[in-house]
Amino acid sequence: MSTVTRPRILVVGAGFAGVECVRRLERQLSPYEADITLVTPLAYQLYLPLLPQVASGVLTPQSIALSLRRSRKYRTRIIPGGAIGVDLKAKVCVVRTITDRIVEEPYDYIVLAPGSVTRTFDIPGLTDHAYGMKTLAEAAYIRDHVISQLDLADASQDPAERASRLQFVVVGGGYAGTETAACLQRLTHAAVKRYPRLDPRLIKWHLIDIAPKLMPELGEKLGRSAQDILRRRGIEISLGVSIEKAGAEEVTFTDGRVVPTRTLIWTAGVVASPLIATLGAETVRGRLAVTSELTVPGRDGVFALGDSAAVPDLAKGPEDAVCPPTAQHAMRQGRVAADNIIATVRNQPMRPYVHKDLGLVVDLGGADAVSKPLGVELHGLPAQAVARGYHWSALRTGVAKARVMTNWLLNAVAGDDFVRTGFQARKPARLKDFEFTNAYMTPEQVRAHVEGSGPSAP
Ligand SMILES: Cc1cc2nc3c(=O)[nH]c(=O)nc-3n(C[C@H](O)[C@H](O)[C@H](O)COP(=O)(O)OP(=O)(O)OC[C@H]3O[C@@H](n4cnc5c(N)ncnc54)[C@H](O)[C@@H]3O)c2cc1C
Repeated sequence: MSTVTRPRILVVGAGFAGVECVRRLERQLSPYEADITLVTPLAYQLYLPLLPQVASGVLTPQSIALSLRRSRKYRTRIIPGGAIGVDLKAKVCVVRTITDRIVEEPYDYIVLAPGSVTRTFDIPGLTDHAYGMKTLAEAAYIRDHVISQLDLADASQDPAERASRLQFVVVGGGYAGTETAACLQRLTHAAVKRYPRLDPRLIKWHLIDIAPKLMPELGEKLGRSAQDILRRRGIEISLGVSIEKAGAEEVTFTDGRVVPTRTLIWTAGVVASPLIATLGAETVRGRLAVTSELTVPGRDGVFALGDSAAVPDLAKGPEDAVCPPTAQHAMRQGRVAADNIIATVRNQPMRPYVHKDLGLVVDLGGADAVSKPLGVELHGLPAQAVARGYHWSALRTGVAKARVMTNWLLNAVAGDDFVRTGFQARKPARLKDFEFTNAYMTPEQVRAHVEGSGPSAP
């Protein structure tokens, strides 16, 4: 019997980066060469760029949740849970399973791809009253919440309550916030026709950002074109403005305006998953510092990528440029991380990650869109065709492609019924309830836990 043990590869996170890495490892490594394990709290890979379309009801939640167990070829062992700490010295990852059991998972190689969480600031009331747009549950919840505002406003005899239920605030003028505001405004615009007692002019969407421009990566002309489209649709855009404080029934802007609202959607950027802070390693603005080969300097067998890592952007030029947190980069980094682990296992040289940005596509709902594929500026239907075509082709499985296409066609032909499902209606759910950001250990707790003397996990 052979006494040689196979190296254990542990991948943390089943997002764009993690899944791409796992699938490549499965394809390129024989089962005799390595054991592959994936830690993930969810049983699917979420196609995040289409989340605003779930919130607005164009797509069903299932259509963008890609199964991790679709093919019989997949041989990775999946641990259903979240990593809450990593001891890089002992090479152990501490995992909280979905049944709240704490288990230790030793590894020889670890791939850290836990993505990011919504970035918040110390703004009074923000974490208690804002919704994010980072998880499938949030998108489904927001859809129900928005429709229930119409239902409640319709039933109310109080003009002040009506006004506050029919105003909606989205903070964040990046693509996530802009698409969210645009798609949800279309939802309320179409839905209000089913509420003859409601005055459509009372419905008001605000999109605000502290920056002077929406989506600066689009450039001057396209950025202005996106703004014109949104303004024409009645979305009030305020730039150079943020939130002073947030309450249950009103939001105060930094320019002094007080907006009565029960809906504050916060999409003002992301920060690396709190898992990164448990490592006690060097970070760049919260993201784990890595080399262009996606390794963590001075730490044996540690790879990191995607939104949680500061990967040098070699295609950009200046030495300190890092890749933006996009799916486009995360997927491709997944492949390079897999190749570099395989190279290490086989004693071959690693390769650096280099990828020139392909551009941006922004779906504003219906026929409205702006896109800049490979530097070509498009708007209207051609931009929409490029946006949908890009996302459709980037969906990893044929089943997901079929579901998304069917949903788009069905929505175009039959529209939406604006049904409120009642899902979690009585339980207010906010940022902190969806992203589990307080589930992590400190570096000291991780060390103590792995040595067997530590306090229990939070
Ligand atoms: C609304 C929205 C629209 C977007 N649109 C675009 C777009 O048009 N184009 C584009 O390129 N990018 C877009 N992005 C950004 C893109 O989705 C991210 O950059 C990309 O998902 C990053 O990939 P990742 O693998 O690093 O993280 P993710 O895809 O977020 O995956 C991280 C995974 O890790 C899991 N996880 C988290 N914590 C743990 C833990 N402790 N243990 C185990 N698993 C964990 C999560 O459940 C998740 O499955 C958008 C993002 C949002 C929110």
